Amino acid sequence: MKDETKCLRAGYTPKNTEPGVMPIYQSTTYVFDSTTDVGDVFDDPTKALIYSRFANPTVMAVEDKIAALEGGIGAMCTSSGQAASLLSILNICKAGDSFVSTSTIYGGTVNLFAFTLKKLGIECIFVDANASEEEISAAFKPNTKAMFGETIANPALAVLDIEKMARIAHAHHVPLIIDNTFATPILCKPIEFGADIVVHSTTKYMDGHALQVGGVIVDSGNFDWESGDFPELTEPDESYHGIIYTKQYGKMAYILKARMQLMRDFGCYPAAHSAFLLNIGLETLALRMERYCANALTMAKFFSECDAIEKVSYSGLEGDEYHELAKKYLPKGSCGVISLFFKGGKEAAVKFMDGLKMCSNEVHVADIRTCVLHPASATHRQLTDEQLLAAGVHPGMVRFSVGLENVEDILADVKQSLANL
Ligand SMILES: *Cc1c(COP(=O)(O)O)cnc(C)c1O
Repeated sequence: MKDETKCLRAGYTPKNTEPGVMPIYQSTTYVFDSTTDVGDVFDDPTKALIYSRFANPTVMAVEDKIAALEGGIGAMCTSSGQAASLLSILNICKAGDSFVSTSTIYGGTVNLFAFTLKKLGIECIFVDANASEEEISAAFKPNTKAMFGETIANPALAVLDIEKMARIAHAHHVPLIIDNTFATPILCKPIEFGADIVVHSTTKYMDGHALQVGGVIVDSGNFDWESGDFPELTEPDESYHGIIYTKQYGKMAYILKARMQLMRDFGCYPAAHSAFLLNIGLETLALRMERYCANALTMAKFFSECDAIEKVSYSGLEGDEYHELAKKYLPKGSCGVISLFFKGGKEAAVKFMDGLKMCSNEVHVADIRTCVLHPASATHRQLTDEQLLAAGVHPGMVRFSVGLENVEDILADVKQSLANL
């Protein structure tokens, strides 16, 4: 199936007389015929459903759809994108371990990696994604267990050279984890370029309608856990009657461990109703991404000719520093998000935003409606000046997230606000 078809048909195939749409299984529990049956499922939880803290049919249909879109062998939804990033790391790192991440990542992920994981004894070593393979390789230590990056960095809009990162990670026998939130599998499938694990904030384009927060982890099934130092996967799990994930589940070891161990313990699983809404968003994802990209390219071209704006970051624009990488990794388009750098700094940026009449000023991105945000005073407020620069955030920068309104209306609103600067 092609992507448009997977969006509509993957994950749920109704049988004779069954509902045409995956129903909401609004139940915490599943009933068994006997105590023996219950025991059997505890021996192998892949046999049946136990409890909705870590598995639910409505959510699992969405998991299968997203796995199909990304080209993975399995997926697990989480209650937020943050939970997906957290679990993707905790599934292979424990206190005393480290992992390498590019510095141009979402501000919330920087907080999680630089501060909260540090308190848990896990060190994140930040690297410049544009550095040479030798320089990035030098950051690896004997206790390094993973490498992390974003396909299109939020909000710097840097495009990641995924193949380069995969080469470096694999040379060190660790998996490459890619946050593919902005690109979505419609614009880029990181697994095809060597990524081993893909995470998303489904809150953004996947849900698409600003209805509910969510996340997902997708496993390519390609990483050979026995080739590296991953005792959590290759040695008995005491908390699960001595199960050895790689022995019992082979290629599914990582994603099943995430569910059976971490989701069991942390319980950050989405509600069935949220998954139902996410599925409605996914049904039109391919169609929506096309229009986001078209509208954003029109807007980016307009902004790049505005006097008040010093620089426009949008890898779909010829001349953008990431245009060559975008041609390779994002041939269908560079998503709907544009970064604008105002000549007049913070003051001009804020004045432009406050002058908009239709476009929404909100702490969101990739909404179906056009929205704007000033990262330095909002999402990236906690970062030091040094971290702001490393994350590609400038005081005069506005993140302009182009929606699906008629682009003439977006242009008209922008023009009237710029006229007041
Ligand atoms: C929003 C976002 C996250 C965090 O996701 P939530 O669903 O808000 O928890 C992670 N990564 C990227 C790239 C994001 O844009």
